[in-house]
This record gives sequence, C-alpha cells and structure tokens, in this order.
Amino acid sequence: MKFKITLITMLSLLLVLAMGSMALAETYVVGTSAGFPPFEYVENGQIVGFDVDLIKAIGETQGFDVEVKDMSFDSLIAGVKTGNLDIIAAGMTITDQREKAVDFSEPYYSADQSIIVKEGSDNDLTVLFGDHDIGVQTGTTGDIWVTDNLSKKGILKGRVVHYEVFVMAVNDLMNENLDAVVLDSPVAARYAELKPVTVVGKVVTGEQYGLAVNEGNTELLNKINAGLKEVIDSGKMNELLAKYFQ
Ligand code: GLN
Repeated sequence: MKFKITLITMLSLLLVLAMGSMALAETYVVGTSAGFPPFEYVENGQIVGFDVDLIKAIGETQGFDVEVKDMSFDSLIAGVKTGNLDIIAAGMTITDQREKAVDFSEPYYSADQSIIVKEGSDNDLTVLFGDHDIGVQTGTTGDIWVTDNLSKKGILKGRVVHYEVFVMAVNDLMNENLDAVVLDSPVAARYAELKPVTVVGKVVTGEQYGLAVNEGNTELLNKINAGLKEVIDSGKMNELLAKYFQ
C-alpha cells in the first residue's frame, strides 16, 4: 500500500514536471508575406518555404516554437512595432531605413532586383524607360528602386502600379495589364519557372536578407543569431538551400 502511494506520488510529480517543461517552450509569432517563392508561399493551404523552415530550424536549436502569420509585406514592420509579431522572416533586405525601426540578424541570403515580362513579349530591359507600366510590391526595395531611380527622375513615364502581393502583380503581367514587374532576383527566377514570364534583366543592388525583431529586443536577436550560426555549422542550412534552390 505504502509502495503504491509512493509510486502514484512519483508519477504525479513526473507529470507536473513534464507539463512545466512544456510550458517553458516559448512560442514566437513570425510574420511573413507568402507570395515570395521559394522563400514563402502557400501550398495546400499551408505557409511553407525556405524562410519558414529556417526559422523553425533556428527555433529547434534554441528551444522555441513558432506560429507563422501571413500578411502584406508592407505591414510587417508595424507588426513588430506594435507587438503583434515577434519576428519577421520574409526575405527582408537589411536597409538603413529599416534599421531605424527593427534590429536585423546576421545576413542569410543575397539578392539583386530582376525585371520580368510576359513570356513571348517583345519587351526587353528598355521596358523600364518611357511610357510603360511597371508593377511592384508595396514597400519593397524593388518599389523604392523603381520609384526613386526611374519614376521620380522621369526616366519611366508610365505608372508604377503598387500591389499588396507579388502574386497579383504577376497575374496582371500575364493578363497584359502591366509591361513588367520588378522583384528580387531569386523570386523572379522562381516565377519564371512557375508561370509564363521571362527574366529580361537584372539590376545589381547587392541586397542581403535578415530576420528582424523589434528594435532593442536583444535577447531574441541573440537567440536568432546563435541559432542561425548553429543551423549553418551543422549543415542544416545547406540542406535547406538544396531543398529550395536546386
Ligand atoms: N527583399 C525585398 C525587400 O526587403 C522584398 C521582400 C519581399 O517582398 N518579401 O524589400
């Protein structure tokens, strides 16, 4: 009898301990914008992609879980500022302007800007000059580049058409409502595989992607950087690159 009670007590204690350690695993809310293949996209109703796997792998090394939220790219920084998001994993380029609002991890991927047109169209790189309509995703480095270097300088005389998601811009390109779309080079290359669009040129912008947290959230940033290093050192990074880019 005495033995039974002890056993039950011990089992209850173990259960309490197990529940306690489960509660300790923190869940961070990760914001992304899932029209950016292969970094983030929707497949069978799920948000998947390189960035999603990367932040999950980082979480595994640091003992945190993630919940991924899909939103427009343009609202991600506001999301971490208001506390609705803990982390941004969205192929976000590290820029001085954004550094004023958020803190970036070490860089994890490099990119330039590419110009895509509808497959079979006569447009080439010169589509960026004169009376053409160019699609961009609001708030992206592509948007800023086209607006500042082409539109404001009068080199581009047509419209800069803003979209919440690249998927809609690419659809409008295929429907001939646009002459070209400017977007990150690795994503342009992937769209060219998935849709009847062609890459006709590249603008060397030398961008670096970083994961972002709210300014001053050093504790979380340190975890992300430590996890990123571990993911690279363990070979997991190469595994993810092979999964999504080959
Ligand atoms: N790298 C680009 C930027 O940071 C585009 C990112 C995206 O559209 N997800 O502005």
